[in-house]
Amino acid sequence: MKRINVTQTYMPPLGRYEKYLKKIWKTRWLTNKGPNVQQLEEKLKEYLYVTNLRVVSNATLGLQLSLRALIGRGTVITTPFSYIASSSIIQWEGSKIVFADIKPDTLCIDPVSIEKNITKDTKAILAVHVYGNACDIEAIEAIAKKNKLKVIYDAAHSFGVTYKGESILNYGDASILSFHATKVFQTVEGGAVLSRSNEVDEKISYMRNFGHKGYEDFYGTGINAKMSEFHAAMGLCMLPDIDMLIKKRKSITELYDILLKDTILRQPIFPDYISRNYSYYPVIFKSETQLLRVMKALNDKQIFPRRYFYPALSTLKFLSNTKCPIAEDVSRKVICLPLYPELKDREVKRIVSTLISSL
Ligand SMILES: *Cc1c(COP(=O)(O)O)cnc(C)c1O
Repeated sequence: MKRINVTQTYMPPLGRYEKYLKKIWKTRWLTNKGPNVQQLEEKLKEYLYVTNLRVVSNATLGLQLSLRALIGRGTVITTPFSYIASSSIIQWEGSKIVFADIKPDTLCIDPVSIEKNITKDTKAILAVHVYGNACDIEAIEAIAKKNKLKVIYDAAHSFGVTYKGESILNYGDASILSFHATKVFQTVEGGAVLSRSNEVDEKISYMRNFGHKGYEDFYGTGINAKMSEFHAAMGLCMLPDIDMLIKKRKSITELYDILLKDTILRQPIFPDYISRNYSYYPVIFKSETQLLRVMKALNDKQIFPRRYFYPALSTLKFLSNTKCPIAEDVSRKVICLPLYPELKDREVKRIVSTLISSL
C-alpha cells in the first residue's frame, strides 16, 4: 500500500528548474543577492500585494530578525498553539515568553487573554495565523496601540491569504512567511519578512547579511540569513503554478468537507472575510482517546496524519510556566489530515472511510 503522509511537496517541472541551473553554472553567482533572489522578491511583492518584502533562509531566522529589529529584548506575549519555532525564538533571543490562551473557534490567540497578561515589561505580541486562519487583527492592533506594543505575525501558514480584501501580510509591524518544503509555497528552505515601515525593512535587509553596509562599512550587528540563488530559483519555478496548486487544495478540502459532514468532528472556524489558501485540514475529536484510536487505524493503513499542534507549548516547562486550558485541551484532540495538491480523490475517500469506521 502506498504511504500517504500529511503532506507531499509539489515539485515544479524539472526542465523549468534546469534553465535556472544552467544560468547559475554560467554566471557562478550562487548567493549574495543574486538575480534570482532579486527577481523572486519583486515577483512575490507583486503576487502578494505588499511593498516591503525581504526573503531569508528560513522563517525562524525571519522571526528572530524581526524581534531584534523591533524590540531587542523584553517580554513577548504569544500563543501556545503553534509550531515550536514561534516561541523558542523568543527565548533564543533572550526575551521572556508569556503565553496567552487561544479562542476555541479560530484557534488563534485570544485578545482578551493577551490583555490580561500585559505587564509593564511587555514589549510585543507575537501572534500566529494558525492554519492560514486569521487572528483578531483589529482587536490585537487596538491593544497594541493602547499599550505601545509591537505586533509580529507568524504568517508561516498564510501564503496568499487575504483579510477583508487585503493581503493579511499588511498588518502588524512585521509578518513572516515560511517557504519550507512542507508549506503551500516552497523554496526548499526559506521565508520572507514583510514589514510595514521602510525603516524596519532596511534594518532587516542589513541584518540578514551580517550587518553589511557596502563592502567595508557596517550598519550594526547582523547574522547570515541570506537565501541562495538555488533556493530562489525553486521559488521562481513554483510561482507560475501556485494558483493551480491552491485551487487543487481547495477542491480536496471541499471533498473532505462533504465526506465528513455528518460526523461529530469539529473544525476551526474560518471567518468568511478571509480568502483561504487551504494549507491544512484540521479536525478536532471528542477526546484524545478517540484521536489515538483513529490515528492507529489510519497508520495501520499507511496513512500518516500529524498532531499539529501537540503538545501545547505552554506545557513545555523550559519555555514558560503559564497555563492555557483551551490550547492544552484542543492540542490533545486535533490532527491535520493529509492535504496536498496531488492527493487523489480516491485517497481522500479511503482516508475518510478508515477514519469514520474507527470513530
Ligand atoms: C513552519 C513553521 C515555522 C518555521 O518555518 P521555517 O521556515 O521552517 O523556519 C514557524 N512557525 C510556524 C507556525 C510554522 O508552521
